[in-house]
Amino acid sequence: MIQCDLCGQSKQCRQREIEGKEYDICSECWNPLAKKLKGKGRLKKEREVVFLPPLTREHEPTEPKPLPGEPPKIW
Ligand SMILES: [Zn+2]
Repeated sequence: MIQCDLCGQSKQCRQREIEGKEYDICSECWNPLAKKLKGKGRLKKEREVVFLPPLTREHEPTEPKPLPGEPPKIW
């Protein structure tokens, strides 16, 4: 039994790839999802790939741009 990434219950889940990430999703969660996604997304060879709109995307840490450094003073 695998814990479903969507409902959190231990069920027989199948590994699904969404946006390049792998999820374990049970058929109960997958079926409505698959219906919603029907006719959407792109087909990819070899693997079953589904593209979902980003639901909760973590804020990517933005690296502070280095300030233009002043030229070192030469005394
Ligand atoms: Zn589930």
